[in-house]
Amino acid sequence: MDDHRDDKYEETELEKSGSGTEDKKGDDSGSDYEDVCFICRRPESKAGKMFRLPNHICVCDDCMHKTMDTVSQFDYQGLLNNPNMGDFNGKGFPNISFVNLADLKGDGGIPNKQKPKKKKKAAAEIDIRDIMPPHKIKQKLDEYVVGQEHAKKVMSVAVYNHYKRVATGTMDEIEIEKSNMLMIGPTGCGKTYLVKTLAKLLDVPLAIADATSLTEAGYIGDDIESVVSKLLAAADNDVERAERGIIFIDEIDKIAKKKNTNSRDVSGESVQQGMLKLLEGAEVEVPVGANSKNAMVPLATVNTRNILFICGGAFPDLDEIIKQRLNRKTSIGYSAELKDKYDKEKNILSRVTVEDIRKFGMIPEFIGRLPVIFTLEGLSREMMVQILKEPRNAILKQYQKLLELDEVELLFDEGALEAIADKAMEKETGARALRAIIEEFMLDIMYEVPKDDNIGRVTITREYIEGNGGPIIDIRSRSAEHPDRLNVIQQPANGS
Ligand code: ADP
Repeated sequence: MDDHRDDKYEETELEKSGSGTEDKKGDDSGSDYEDVCFICRRPESKAGKMFRLPNHICVCDDCMHKTMDTVSQFDYQGLLNNPNMGDFNGKGFPNISFVNLADLKGDGGIPNKQKPKKKKKAAAEIDIRDIMPPHKIKQKLDEYVVGQEHAKKVMSVAVYNHYKRVATGTMDEIEIEKSNMLMIGPTGCGKTYLVKTLAKLLDVPLAIADATSLTEAGYIGDDIESVVSKLLAAADNDVERAERGIIFIDEIDKIAKKKNTNSRDVSGESVQQGMLKLLEGAEVEVPVGANSKNAMVPLATVNTRNILFICGGAFPDLDEIIKQRLNRKTSIGYSAELKDKYDKEKNILSRVTVEDIRKFGMIPEFIGRLPVIFTLEGLSREMMVQILKEPRNAILKQYQKLLELDEVELLFDEGALEAIADKAMEKETGARALRAIIEEFMLDIMYEVPKDDNIGRVTITREYIEGNGGPIIDIRSRSAEHPDRLNVIQQPANGS
């Protein structure tokens, strides 16, 4: 057997443990090597927890179940327990070969295939000095996200603190609280975009889930733990990376307690209850590479202690709750004329308190686990124009780049940008509407321009956006003195 040994693994943990000199903690957490399933050869990171048999043989949960099933199929008439089973009809037991564990005793007894693979290097510990400080995080966010100054600041600090907490583990007796966040803001104002940008610049895996699809375990819909499974997939099934990731749960307002309902609230309050443990930190068994648990899918254990949860929602009508509260306050001792004082206040959402959110239908325990609460403002026309042209990957820059490849310059005049912003404001879906509007009128341009090599520049005008005119097309011409140089001659706008 010894000649099968792989030199690379001269002193494997298995062999060491055979000598009985090291501490036997019962788990392999101190080992450098992963256990590998004796039957299917998958390492523990893929196959989940292993059954440990004598002589350091490990079998994964799946294979153990399959083996049990197979054995039980053939165990008719008690043949399996027959001491003469090996001589069944003189031919041995059909299709089953029995491994005598006693034959495998000692070092050399461990079959070569069972040689463990070196465990993946534990993800490097986070060094506090490597964590990006808040002002740097905000600076980076500024490159992509327009406005939302307060939100960017709060998030930068919360994320910084979160990763400091991860880096230190616990601080003696002072346990740093988790900085899970709750972001409140109208649709299309950049909630998801902020989180996506944050995850990208921190280089951590991100899972985005929709609270509307979540239901209490056992009911139709995704159960709550499926969000962790998504994160594991985003981390390429690397449990340690997933354990430092971010989970963003959108539309969190949709799991508010249902009012006036007699039936069991399986997608509202129960989901909030179910999420409490995850938010705080719990070990969850999640299927690897699948959405649902079943006998054939290996499971991995993920600890959510260091996973940053960010919940976001538009919370419609929360402004009414806030106004009511504020009015109630002012009506004591003041005259009734103050009643509509807050109706015109623009950023009333920023005055939100935990009490308002509770009144909206979130349970106190749930809010308690999201200590960082902040609001985002609705987008103004000016912000929309900025979003069109300023961020690093602004939509206009993308189209300009596309046409640049055809050696055509694309320009937008200010009036055009304002007209696009106006149209988007009408749709009331925030910046999400911008792309749809631009795509609609850029279609013709992207179709026509490559037809004609003479086109050198296209300028989009307000008239074109509003449907009263066309873009300005400038034609290239070769000048007589410099035939290699292209000039652009402006053509009057035609209605096409
Ligand atoms: P929601 O708040 O509903 O989650 P999103 O973050 O999905 O909205 O925004 C939709 C799209 O609009 C984003 O993909 C992004 O391109 C754009 N967007 C929204 N807000 C901003 C912003 N403040 N700065 C830059 N782009 C934005």
